[in-house]
Amino acid sequence: MSADTQTPAQTSDIPAPKILAEAGRRRTIAVISHPDAGKSTLTEALALHAKALREAGAVHGRGGRAGVVTDWQDMEKQRGISISSAVVQLDHRDQVINVVDTPGHADFSEDTYRALTAVDAVIMLVDAARGMEVQTRKLFGVCKTRGLPVITVINKWDRPGQEALQLLDEIESITGLKPTPMTWPVGIAGDFRGLLERGSGEYVKYTRAPGGATLALEERMDAVRAEAVEGSAWVQAVEESDLLSISDGDHDEEAFLAFRTTPVYFTAAVANTGVGQVLDSLVDVAPSPRDQPDVAGATQPLPGRFSAQIFKTQTGMNPAHRDRLAFARIHSGVFHRGMTVRDNRTGRPMVLKHVQTVFGADRSTVDVAYPGDVIGLVNARHINVGDTISEAGKVEYPPLPVFAPEHFRTVRPKDLGSGKSFRQGLRELDAEGVVRVLINDAHGLGEPILSAVGALQFDVVQYRMTNEYRSPVRFTELGFTTARLIEPDVLPILRTKRDVEVVENADGQMFALFTDEWRVRGIERDNPGIKLQPLVATS
Ligand code: GDP
Repeated sequence: MSADTQTPAQTSDIPAPKILAEAGRRRTIAVISHPDAGKSTLTEALALHAKALREAGAVHGRGGRAGVVTDWQDMEKQRGISISSAVVQLDHRDQVINVVDTPGHADFSEDTYRALTAVDAVIMLVDAARGMEVQTRKLFGVCKTRGLPVITVINKWDRPGQEALQLLDEIESITGLKPTPMTWPVGIAGDFRGLLERGSGEYVKYTRAPGGATLALEERMDAVRAEAVEGSAWVQAVEESDLLSISDGDHDEEAFLAFRTTPVYFTAAVANTGVGQVLDSLVDVAPSPRDQPDVAGATQPLPGRFSAQIFKTQTGMNPAHRDRLAFARIHSGVFHRGMTVRDNRTGRPMVLKHVQTVFGADRSTVDVAYPGDVIGLVNARHINVGDTISEAGKVEYPPLPVFAPEHFRTVRPKDLGSGKSFRQGLRELDAEGVVRVLINDAHGLGEPILSAVGALQFDVVQYRMTNEYRSPVRFTELGFTTARLIEPDVLPILRTKRDVEVVENADGQMFALFTDEWRVRGIERDNPGIKLQPLVATS
């Protein structure tokens, strides 16, 4: 379908079996991990194995970004972090794998959580020495709430670390999922010789390629040869693998999809070792998109008419235009460039002409996309995070979950004359979901309070208020660390507490801010019957 088409395209042009087949070829996943566990390295290694890249190191633009520097990316570069979620699309064994990036900085923000609403499964990356670290646990909490199947990858096996069985125990006790290893390391952490593939019983021996930038050399052999080559290391791996089999440690697809088990892989992503098996798992084990329930509980069939939900917006990727990209995950039907859709929230029709895929810093125009794919709508000014866009205009997917903020600051303009742009900026950043703006209900004229999941969100606010709205701001840290949803009937009790602040968001929902969880529990204990509702359990 060409860009200049006069008649909006309709999905009915494409027969349902074709749409189902294309959806069946899709795997849409995210990699979650604590910073430094090797998420970028693994993503690059997966791309290298899928032959999407000649050499590792280009996905996050370490080498490739130089030509396309924007001021927004300058901010990312200065901090050495990835603020924005883009998507990497890989082709492997005739399947299309969409890897949705989750920003991994320690001060990570709601963007990281929201990316998980756009995927069908996740890879949970665990550092072999550090085990289940705090951010991994938090992100796992979101997967649990959403019932997202989790594939576990234990990385950095080339470095000294914990014992493999010990790591499985830790994963099981923290996640409640039964680990079912698909590969098992031959050689302890720090002496990574190769992998026993538990399905076939074969041994894959690795020899690291110089520099690790190209694929590791691998040699496949049967058990007899493996024992001759590796001796006791092989025998131990086989014994441990047998032990797993008698304790329900074998993969069961149904149990995995039902969030009861997690297949486990071992890698040294930096050396590209064990990564091929992880890539295969995305084809063999990870689920393809399924019919999505809408807000009314009715399911939207994959081959139905086009529908998608916005899970992220991003402004300022191109400084010349200050453009805004809205990222949408397609849930049903086919996207055709030039088609007309409606936003469920505003009822506005729009023609989707300028739609792109984003591959690291590169973008290219999309003509057709299927369920599971992520598309970036350019300059879709009136679309907000959480909105549904659909061909029929009637579909509405459930709102994205609200993630519990832990950081609260008042905000005011540095330049008192910039009041109008200050208010406009805050209103727009709130609508985009960059940060939440809360107003003190008792003295509504007071300074707005910004709430965030990660402190990094305040830096993004400062940057955008300064560069986009020309209204630099000043923050004052508040001593609150947790918020609760409240009903009006508890107001008289909370108003008497000097260390509790009652606030309202733009939708008129009321929250109370507390110094810590102890304070919440203390008030609940002293006032039986009152309910201080947590926003969402993510940890
Ligand atoms: P991220 O913060 O999770 O994206 O982590 P990175 O991919 O940036 O990796 C963090 C550091 O760990 C980098 O210095 C990587 O080179 C290193 N690293 C990643 N994977 C491995 C691995 O398998 N073995 C070793 N030894 N180092 C690794």
